Amino acid sequence: MRVAIFGTGYVGLVTGTCLAEVGHDVVCVDIDQAKVDGLNRGVIPIYEPGLEPMVKANHAASRLAFTTDAASAIAHGQVVFIAVGTPPDEDGSADLQYVLAVARTIGRHLQVPTVVVNKSTVPVGTADKVRAAIAEELAARGVEIAFDVVSNPEFLKEGDAVADCMRPDRIIIGAASDAPVAVMRRLYAPFNRNHDRVVEMDVRSAELTKYAANAMLATKISFMNEIANIAERVGADIEHVRQGIGSDPRIGWHFIYPGAGYGGSCFPKDVQALARTAAQYGHAPLLLQAVEAVNEAQKGHLFELVQRHYDRGEDEGVRGKTFAVWGLAFKPNTDDMREASSRRLLAQLWEAGAQVRAYDPEAMHEARRVFGERDDLALCDSAFEALEGADALIVVTEWKQFRSPDFTRIRQALGDAVVFDGRNLYDPREIEAAGLAYYGIGRGRSLHV
Ligand code: NAD
Repeated sequence: MRVAIFGTGYVGLVTGTCLAEVGHDVVCVDIDQAKVDGLNRGVIPIYEPGLEPMVKANHAASRLAFTTDAASAIAHGQVVFIAVGTPPDEDGSADLQYVLAVARTIGRHLQVPTVVVNKSTVPVGTADKVRAAIAEELAARGVEIAFDVVSNPEFLKEGDAVADCMRPDRIIIGAASDAPVAVMRRLYAPFNRNHDRVVEMDVRSAELTKYAANAMLATKISFMNEIANIAERVGADIEHVRQGIGSDPRIGWHFIYPGAGYGGSCFPKDVQALARTAAQYGHAPLLLQAVEAVNEAQKGHLFELVQRHYDRGEDEGVRGKTFAVWGLAFKPNTDDMREASSRRLLAQLWEAGAQVRAYDPEAMHEARRVFGERDDLALCDSAFEALEGADALIVVTEWKQFRSPDFTRIRQALGDAVVFDGRNLYDPREIEAAGLAYYGIGRGRSLHV
């Protein structure tokens, strides 16, 4: 089938590439000329495992094209996806300006009956706004062209996006009638050969399903962080507790890792946006507010541990200390630093007068863009280079390569021989046996308040 996709970010680029991979003829549109030029030269704007070779192969096979020319893309697509950003507005609600701008563009250029698919994460009722915006533009042109608006939220995980897209757990299709569902079923048929993954529903339920999924996952994380904070105070080790509850199939192992708080482009904004929708419809979202508040506090917790170690007695505190920071991306296997816990930590360290030597396997380019040049930040080429001249190590992102470091080498490198483990990667006993002080989340020295 011929497909057009608006937005070549994490979702649009991965979706377009995977649809091309199964044989569809895909045109990706973006307003960012530099990004489109780069993609046409084979420069992939994001880091996502497995994506680059797939983009290049499908581009070379002429199944995947990149353009800024919206009119030609709309003329090409039997199905037109909207996959642009929905960042938080000032009040926390989803900012729909990019989605609605695409809707108007579609209305201005539509020539033949088309299925318009909303893949961006959008509040309940957005499909109606998209439909109205397209209809308004068609009316202004004085033409009548039939079109459907379908909700098809995306569930890919950054860091695993290609695999998720090629083997989705479920394909949610929210539509008002059968005809567009049949079109979507044809489009996704290559992903359904093993078993049917399509879940059909009405548009509003599809829109809410995406928020419900992210809010549930964020709730699990905040719940565990809350229990970790209790564990810390009562002298328990959250890692034992985690293993003790994860074995219960009703609870399960996923998303019960305590840590430095959730970040990224989805959970923070989606929890806020859902809470905002609830409030707009007259429901006080007590649980969602608590999930958000716990996460906000948790993002500051690593720095609290740092203060707990340094702000004692006659000590000068954190001022003048140098911290090696391992991991800047909001999670492993991505270069995405949107709402990353590292950003809060670095801001707090700088505010307190500390220096930072940071390393991330993939986010260095993004870090340079986010932080710019500054005297109190050295961006290093390796994890061990970050330790050179540092007093303490703080682990913020759980990249695999940080999991079994040489603790003796870390001990020799660090002036103050202390490790703050924001993801509970290490065994406190092993670290302490190497002569290092250890602070984890809800365990280790963090037990001794
Ligand atoms: P992104 O910021 O990475 O990419 C958005 C792209 O849209 C940018 O390249 C931007 O230039 C482009 N764009 C903006 N206006 C445009 C226009 N008028 N025409 C064409 N292109 C335009 O965003 P993303 O992370 O891919 O997220 C997109 C949507 O998908 C959001 O609603 C997000 O919540 C949702 N989502 C994201 C993820 C994720 O893991 N990132 C997962 C599921 C759902």
